[in-house]
Amino acid sequence: MSYEFLINGEFKHFTEKTYNVRRPRDGSVLATLPSAGKEDVDAAVAAAKAAYYGGWQLSDPAERQSLMLKWADLVEERADEIASLVSEDLGADAAGWKGECSYVASMLRFYAGLAVLNYGDVLSMGDDHVNYVIKVPHGVCGMMPPWNSPLQSPIQKMGPALAAGNTVVLRAPEEAPMGAMLLVKAAHDAGFPKGVVNVIVGEGPESGTALVDHPDVRLISFTGSVPTGKAIAAACARQMKRYVMELGGKSPVIVFEDANMEKALEESVAFAFAFQGQICCANTRILVQRSILDSFKEQLLKVVEGYRSSIEGSDMPVGPLFNQKVFDRTTEFTEIARKDGTILCGGSPIEQDKGYYFQPTVVEFEDDSSIVCKEEIFGPVLSLIPFEDEAEAIAIANNVNYGLASTVYSEDRQRIFRVVRRLEAGTVWANAGFKFNIHMPWGGPKDTGINREFGKYALDPYFEQKNIWLS
Ligand code: NAD
Repeated sequence: MSYEFLINGEFKHFTEKTYNVRRPRDGSVLATLPSAGKEDVDAAVAAAKAAYYGGWQLSDPAERQSLMLKWADLVEERADEIASLVSEDLGADAAGWKGECSYVASMLRFYAGLAVLNYGDVLSMGDDHVNYVIKVPHGVCGMMPPWNSPLQSPIQKMGPALAAGNTVVLRAPEEAPMGAMLLVKAAHDAGFPKGVVNVIVGEGPESGTALVDHPDVRLISFTGSVPTGKAIAAACARQMKRYVMELGGKSPVIVFEDANMEKALEESVAFAFAFQGQICCANTRILVQRSILDSFKEQLLKVVEGYRSSIEGSDMPVGPLFNQKVFDRTTEFTEIARKDGTILCGGSPIEQDKGYYFQPTVVEFEDDSSIVCKEEIFGPVLSLIPFEDEAEAIAIANNVNYGLASTVYSEDRQRIFRVVRRLEAGTVWANAGFKFNIHMPWGGPKDTGINREFGKYALDPYFEQKNIWLS
């Protein structure tokens, strides 16, 4: 199978290096791709810059809207092809990815709608002047989505950037690039002018650093780990580049003694182990009021046991971890958990001929002092932590460097109002499992990142404000 970069409206590459993309299910080679070097990044950025100054910068928002709507239609039309390839690339089932194609098409339609709603402000008017503020794009934006979100993340970055009138160079996630490359091919076929949308991909950080360091790139949008995000932010700061960062979480679920336990259990467990915990907002900590700890634990283990038996059944509904790196990290943290806490279930790899399968694992801790309760693991490891009262629950929930999402279960409405205000998180679900829609902002405080994606809020970082004094 051959895949090409898209540079200046042509499917081509300059590098002579190649690398293999592997299937997580069994480690076999899915495709051999060119591995971008500085020459590919330079060409893609030059194309994006020329396209920006050559017309896209001042393009009619209705033209951008129309192209994005065509793009959305093509993504939906090609959903079968995209989903089957992404399923091989990521190791999850194709039906889910097909649904995600519809979802990202609706995201494109949402941002197509916002492209024509770029209102500014009138600040003041004297007898001899009018003073107004308009929003203008930055220019070339470098987009770096992660492997665990091969369709949504590229669109949640490119959608608002393009709607605002920027041009983009997408660096597809190196280990799962297929979805992003097919999405960009659909953009090309929808008729975007050459150079407006470009895609490259490369093994290792070389192409990422070349993109981040390129002086003609005005903004970087990155999703990935905290150390890499901080390194990229530091590099951006040297050139006063703007950036958008989504660097993950260590999301708590707080279950009070007056909660609907059945609902809390079902929702929190489902979202602890979905996609094997390889999701930035996975429920990785369940905080349970001590008065109900024993009964909660008993029920929790039954729910997880059901989950495990279905995994170990014939059709393996739970897939593999993504790669050796994720598997090793999961194994290392599980070994620490074995020393710092009590493993209630799981704790070991699932023996398979090939692929990185790991049991859903629940670890009970006396308190939250272990690093297992603090760091993002990105594997199926759930920490169970007791608390005495509301103040302690909030303190433990906030006692991490992340703040992406939190959940609280209680039937006491006054308590819910108090707790949601005090949780340090970009999103709080109250008596609600993982709910998500395009309109809500996504991101959070602390090491989780900076700026927001999704909703109308996602457009803000892709604009500068320009004040015009007209005499
Ligand atoms: P990473 O953050 O280490 O790397 C992401 C990408 O950045 C890679 O393609 C890498 O080549 C590139 N890169 C590395 N250093 C760079 C630099 N200085 N400048 C530019 N590009 C650079 O992520 P990973 O290796 O894919 O995963 C490691 C961990 O990151 C995971 O275990 C997980 O904890 C976390 N993660 C979080 C999310 C999220 O949604 N927030 C997504 C994926 C991974």
